[in-house]
Amino acid sequence: VVYLDNNATTALAPEALDAMLPYLSGLYANPSSAYGPAATAKKGVAEARAAVAALLGCSPAEIVFTSGATESNHAAILGALSAASGKRHLITSQVEHPSVLLMCRHLERLGMEVSYLPVDSEGRLDLATLPSAIRPDTALISLLWANNETGAIFPIPEAAAIARSRGVLFHTDATQAMGKIPMDLRQVPVDLLSCSAHKIHGPKGVGALYVRKGLTLPPLFHGHQERGRRGGTENVPAIVGFGVAARLHDELEREMRRLAALRDRLERGILAFMPCAQVHAQDTPRLPNTSNIGFATLDGEELLHRLEQAGVLASAGAACAAGGHEPSHVLTAMGLSKTSVLASLRFSLGRYSRAEDVDHLLRVLPSILLKLMDVPEIIAR
Ligand code: PLP
Repeated sequence: VVYLDNNATTALAPEALDAMLPYLSGLYANPSSAYGPAATAKKGVAEARAAVAALLGCSPAEIVFTSGATESNHAAILGALSAASGKRHLITSQVEHPSVLLMCRHLERLGMEVSYLPVDSEGRLDLATLPSAIRPDTALISLLWANNETGAIFPIPEAAAIARSRGVLFHTDATQAMGKIPMDLRQVPVDLLSCSAHKIHGPKGVGALYVRKGLTLPPLFHGHQERGRRGGTENVPAIVGFGVAARLHDELEREMRRLAALRDRLERGILAFMPCAQVHAQDTPRLPNTSNIGFATLDGEELLHRLEQAGVLASAGAACAAGGHEPSHVLTAMGLSKTSVLASLRFSLGRYSRAEDVDHLLRVLPSILLKLMDVPEIIAR
């Protein structure tokens, strides 16, 4: 099959699997134990911490391993709220991942207040809306670095600088941005950042929360591990796999150019056949691997289904929303009609995507589109 759903999850890199296997068998010691084999596990975790820190451009001591970006997001939001006692206001955007939005809804039910910044039809955030949303009781600003559905990139360095100048903590969900665009947290004044291994060809169930040096937040899980910042015995095999996956991204600029060229080939091919198709967030900075395309008024679910029959796996937006038949909140926030939202598919490329994959899609798609448009193929040809 041709896998074009890398924003949902990625294939585990063979290098990561190889590194993990010993820790799933013989090297099972608890890294907190005092005997020799535990030192090997501890060293595995330390090396992974250094690798993840290198990809983010921060110090290893600023990395806290978690069970994934959902936990990291929750630890950041709840940590900031409990640190800033008395502050009851959060700022986020309308297009965040559900792990942030649903937590915000939950907090609203508990009496907190949340401001949801809007985006324009390109998925762009208007930075001018941020300063006026900040209140004396704002505990945290949390904004996506790159959108999982459209790939649109938010101006995080600028937004974080505004937060810093106003003395408000700033968190970014960088789950989709990590390993896809260069990042140097020494240059970007974010206080907290979430990321996840399974989006960068590491294993599922492990991620990290970057916590800027000097910042101490109450943890989500209390315990001694991770220097008291995240209790619970470390998932050593997964953490080791995360580290190896992070190290695979050392030629990021070259990979970005390769992916962008593949994505452009995909979009050009689709537009050549169907000029009325619409590439969402096309005129905004976006990830090189993500293409979200509206197929006029066609039924996206049906299109997806037929693509699968033709050996192509894509997505109708976010994997977590799939099956729920809820129209994407991201495309809705960009002002698209319900019909246009339901006619939109996301294609997301990864490390193992090749030109042949895109060409296979471009070969099978036209006849599927014609069938859905109810055009007899013989006439269209
Ligand atoms: N944030 C974003 C932007 C994502 O794309 C995802 C993945 O679906 C998550 C958070 C959740 O990550 P995890 O699966 O590691 O909890």
